[in-house]
Amino acid sequence: MKAPDKIRVKRVPKRGVYDKETIYRILDTDYTCTVSFMHRGVPVGIPTIYGRKGNTLYLHGAGTSRMMLELDKGIDICVTVFNVHALVLAKSAFHHSLNYESVVVFGKGKAIDADQKMDALKAVSDQILKGRWEESRLPNEKELKATTVIAIEIDEASAKIRTGPPSDDKADENLAIWSGIVPIEKQYMVPLPADDYSSANIADSVKVF
Ligand SMILES: Cc1cc2nc3c(=O)[nH]c(=O)nc-3n(C[C@H](O)[C@H](O)[C@H](O)COP(=O)(O)OP(=O)(O)OC[C@H]3O[C@@H](n4cnc5c(N)ncnc54)[C@H](O)[C@@H]3O)c2cc1C
Repeated sequence: MKAPDKIRVKRVPKRGVYDKETIYRILDTDYTCTVSFMHRGVPVGIPTIYGRKGNTLYLHGAGTSRMMLELDKGIDICVTVFNVHALVLAKSAFHHSLNYESVVVFGKGKAIDADQKMDALKAVSDQILKGRWEESRLPNEKELKATTVIAIEIDEASAKIRTGPPSDDKADENLAIWSGIVPIEKQYMVPLPADDYSSANIADSVKVF
């Protein structure tokens, strides 16, 4: 079945992927996104963090932030996430590229009710580091009140994936220029305790690094 025009990848269409399983998988490899929306006639793209639970993306922020106030108006928004997996170095400058996986989600935001905030904030926390929520002092009433959580349904979404070696022109094949890919891996380093670490044992959630 053809994807709806709004989300259909036209530029190199073979790279477009629309199944929920792939879109969720890519979203779950990250926790930062750019949220784009129009504000007073000007397009803005704001970097922020997200959590996914089921078919819902959660964004959180101060109730006074422009982004939260604007998104709660139910305006059209676009959330993008991308991971770069390799530099793709072709023989020609023109065919240089990147291997990547990206997701674009269109939707409208809606601030969730107070009684749903804890679950949604846990989803955001879990997205970054599983187990940390349970180790933390959980938000109190005042903190919850000061925090807005916006939910966006992942109903209009596409993924785009590029993999593999460079694709040079036939005419350039014999040029004595190195070509290939340089894989990139995101790496966490050894955790460093805060100054006020005191006598607390290292947290279980952090032991994975
Ligand atoms: C890290 C990274 C770097 C890139 N660098 C460049 C670059 O330098 N120049 C360049 O032209 N392109 C680049 N791309 C590809 C770029 O994201 C677009 O796919 C491409 O520019 C076509 O844009 P368009 O608006 O013409 O897309 P169209 O194909 O017309 O888009 C139609 C619809 O397809 C979907 N779509 C388009 N692109 C994506 C995507 N990347 N992920 C998920 N859904 C998508 C959206 O729903 C969009 O509304 C890069 C992608 C990534 C992830």
